[in-house]
Amino acid sequence: MALAYNTGHCDDFALPGGQAQRSPPAPARIRWTSLALIHPTARMMNNAQGRTMHCMICGGPTAYYFSKQYDGPYGIFMTDIPSVDYAICGSCGFVFSMTHQALDADRWSRLNVEFHDHCAQVPYDQKPNSPPYAEQALMLGLAATGTIIDASSMLDYAGGRGILSRLVADLFAMRLDVYEPFVRDEGVSYLDKGDLTKYKVVFNSAMFEHVLCRQDLDDVNDLVDPDGVLIVHTVVGERVPQDPSWFYLTPPVHTAFHTNRSMAVLMEQWGYTCSIYAPKAKSWILLKGDVSRVLDQADAINRRLKTQWLIAKEGFVDYWK
Ligand SMILES: [Zn+2]
Repeated sequence: MALAYNTGHCDDFALPGGQAQRSPPAPARIRWTSLALIHPTARMMNNAQGRTMHCMICGGPTAYYFSKQYDGPYGIFMTDIPSVDYAICGSCGFVFSMTHQALDADRWSRLNVEFHDHCAQVPYDQKPNSPPYAEQALMLGLAATGTIIDASSMLDYAGGRGILSRLVADLFAMRLDVYEPFVRDEGVSYLDKGDLTKYKVVFNSAMFEHVLCRQDLDDVNDLVDPDGVLIVHTVVGERVPQDPSWFYLTPPVHTAFHTNRSMAVLMEQWGYTCSIYAPKAKSWILLKGDVSRVLDQADAINRRLKTQWLIAKEGFVDYWK
């Protein structure tokens, strides 16, 4: 599938003033010879001992990739951050913001709160890329019915305003607990971080692109029961375009950009053997154990729906090229 996606995600693409988000540009091939290794900000990739910073996903060497200035509609959130510098892993292609990683915790938190507060004010008909909540709820319902997931304990990690949680409760009478560090909605009973335990299903929508360090990712996976599943909703393509105008850089809280290779590496490190991608829900289910059983379960749902609603394979489903 060509890289013409977006996650539909996190209210992120509702620009100030209700402007519609532009269509994503075609991906640019990574030109390794053009990586500006001598760019001054490349110094940021070295730690105090002068060693090269390694990729948080695979441990490979990283290099300066490009910079972006938030002088457009989102510049109001970035007035004290004139330029954001990104680096790329030469091994798995994972891209991250060195600038966001260098922010102190208070500034990072304020950026998230201000941005989410702004998005909450935008009318739904001016949010061209809202998350596919209905399809995600259906995916959870189908996966539970088809015994792909065990719905007896489920958590929506970074679950925002609890929209998905309320949907699965109303539509399927399923309980989806919500943990969210930055956003509050009066109608949601949020879990405190200290109340988190292990879950058969951990749903993680639109957070993988917000992380600053490896621990942020491991904190999510650590909540998955040994025989549980992790469901991830984010943008994952074959490569991250070397293009400051790439649509997924638009939200100023996006800091990490994954590739099919980096996700495959993560899966292997975390012990997942296979995955299912639901294009309508723009979400991946990462599973452990018997691959053939998972393939049969996904096939059973597809035959029931008379369409390939789910795509399953050993390893990571590299749907977007
Ligand atoms: Zn890497």
